[in-house]
Amino acid sequence: MEGLVLCWIGEREAQRGLIDAVRGHLGAELRERVLPGFEPDRPREAWDARRGQYETGRILKWLESRHAEAAKVLGLTDVDLFIPILTFVFGEAQLGGRAAVVSTARLAAPSGSRTGRLLEERLRKEALHEIGHAYGLVHCGHPGCVMGRSPGVKEIDLKTLSFCSDCRLLYEEANPHAR
Ligand SMILES: [Zn+2]
Ligand SMILES: [Zn+2]
Repeated sequence: MEGLVLCWIGEREAQRGLIDAVRGHLGAELRERVLPGFEPDRPREAWDARRGQYETGRILKWLESRHAEAAKVLGLTDVDLFIPILTFVFGEAQLGGRAAVVSTARLAAPSGSRTGRLLEERLRKEALHEIGHAYGLVHCGHPGCVMGRSPGVKEIDLKTLSFCSDCRLLYEEANPHAR
């Protein structure tokens, strides 16, 4: 089993800088190998024409079947995501499973000088949050912990970029390969 595989599955062209920032952040926080994965296809079967969004459950199954060799696989996308009970989600993961997905679709800030920087920061947080779920971590109530619930960008902006000490311990227990 390889380490964490990170691949772009968005509709528009991949933003290399953004992906590299997420990759660097996950590698540093997880102390795990994060490999760039190439994914030539897109999870078309996850498209819900009625809602005009992509269903994350189907994306996760798709990612899992296509990256059978990876210990964990994180798909980064720019399409709007949903789960049936919510109007939208920033991302989703299989709790204690192998696949996770995060989208930039709802993370962009209104235009201004910090737009690019803010999008990158939010994406780094949400990518770590979803991968945390894939390592079995649940939502955390410690102020600032990246595993805190985030129904909106306001909550994301209040979080730090890292696990709290309790979540870090849980992560290290779940991943003995962490250096
Ligand atoms: Zn969550
Ligand atoms: Zn925590």
